[in-house]
Parts: sequence; structure tokens; C-alpha cells
Amino acid sequence: MSVSLVNTSATTLVATQMTNITSEEKRNLLFDVNCSLEVQMEDFDEIWWPLVSNIWTQWTSYKQVNGNFWKIFTCYFTKYRDSSTRQKENISNEKCRITKTRPSGLCHAKIKVEWLVSLKIVKVGCYKDSSNHTHSLLDVNRLKRPQIIRTLVEKEAVKNYLPPAITATIKEYTTIELGLDASAQCKEVTNIKYKVRGPIEVHLVGNSDLKLDISQSVSYLKEQGYQVEIYRVHQRSTKGIVFAHPEQLEKLENHGWLTLIDSTHKTNRYDWRLFTLYVHDTYGCWNIGAHFL
Ligand SMILES: [Zn+2]
Repeated sequence: MSVSLVNTSATTLVATQMTNITSEEKRNLLFDVNCSLEVQMEDFDEIWWPLVSNIWTQWTSYKQVNGNFWKIFTCYFTKYRDSSTRQKENISNEKCRITKTRPSGLCHAKIKVEWLVSLKIVKVGCYKDSSNHTHSLLDVNRLKRPQIIRTLVEKEAVKNYLPPAITATIKEYTTIELGLDASAQCKEVTNIKYKVRGPIEVHLVGNSDLKLDISQSVSYLKEQGYQVEIYRVHQRSTKGIVFAHPEQLEKLENHGWLTLIDSTHKTNRYDWRLFTLYVHDTYGCWNIGAHFL
């Protein structure tokens, strides 16, 4: 099935008569203003329309007494202000530079979608004498992802994989399973994931009240079986906590004749240093003996 066939044909395409139609072909049909289409209502709402939610923005709607309703959708680019308008608004050059290129002219393509409720059919067609798009479908994809991609990203983001892994999964799924030429960029995945799950390192950020933060950390370590002591070096500002697991203390007692100490800086927001003691065990391995913070 090709889209050029649609352009020259005045007849209505009926979805149930089209077999093996890919998601990308569905998107092309719904993108084309001159394509008249009939789709089963359930299929339309659940499968077809989520594919093009990035292309069409609702303009008006009308509900009839018999329960049928129609909506007029206008191209996403109708509302989109081009970059020349933005420059007039004194947006810094830096911002303009990173803004993606977009079509210079606005698009006024419109379609009418009718939900014939009793027949359980949705009819899609050109609205009045609407002109066709002034840009390609890819131009829209570059600026905004269809709902189907966002939903996929949200589903994956909940599993808490890192953004590059999610991006790869989405790309594989959209191209192989859906035959869709529109995936998500890693940066977008990160943004969506942020909305779904909050900042990636949120579980590592402690209480903003330092005293409370320390006491919470101490109780956590004690729960994990660690022995924790708060220490203070007299006549100096040095203080902190030392923690070690009983197994580590045993190693320290047995092999403490040679102990190494090293520290890592910037281990928390206060730039504290984490000191670690290492002992040389009977197997010749350097083992962690205790930690100071
Ligand atoms: Zn358009």
C-alpha cells in the first residue's frame, strides 16, 4: 500500500479492508489531509489516534443530539511560532542557537474527525478546503513525539533503567514492532523519566536538616548491623562518624598490623571526606576494615 495511491483516489479508504498495514502507514494516512478514511471506533481511539497525537491539535468540536460528535483538528505547526518571531522577543542568541530548526512558514492544514457512535465508526477527512501540510511528517516528529512514544517511555521509565537503556529499548520496539520511523532522543527520555520518577539520584539525597540527616544515617547503619560511633577530636573542629560491621572489626583485630587509610572527597553535599581503612588478610587481599566520615 502506498500513500501516492491515496492522493489520486477520491474514494474513502476503509480500515477493515486494509490488511498488514503498519503503524507508519497509518500515520501517513492520518497525516495526509486529502485522505478520507473510515476506521472502527475502538481501533481509531486506541490504535490509530495515539500515533498522530503529535501532529494534530484540537481546534473546535461539536456534539450532535444523536450522540455523534465531530472535532476539527489543526496541524501542530499552526500554533507554532517560527524562529523569526522568537528573535524579535529578545530571546538570547544562545537560546536561539540551540533551538531546533523548524519550517519557516506556518501550516494551516485541518482535518475533520467524526465519531459515529451508533455505527461505532470514525470518519476522517479534509476540513472544508484545507490546504495540505507545508512540511513533512518528519518535521513534526523532530519537534514532538506522538503519545504512543511518550507512553512507551513512561512505561519503561517506571522500571528505573538508565535513560540510554530506555532509549535503546524504545528505538528497537518502535522500529521493529511498530514499523514506526519516530523514536525518542536520550535527552527526551531523561526529561520524561524525571517527570515520572523524579531526579535519578533522589534516593541518595538525605534530609536537608544536617542533624536529622546524620541521626537518620546512623540508625540506617545500625539497622544494617554496623557499629557506629560519633567521634570528636578535642581542641579541633574535626568530628564525624565511624562505622564498621562486626565482621570488619574482626578482620581489623586479626590483621590490623598493616592498615592502609585513604579518603574520597565530595561524598556528600557538605563535601565531607570518606576515609576507609584497609587491612591485608590471610588471602593477600586488601579488605575494608572500617569507614570514617
Ligand atoms: Zn502541517
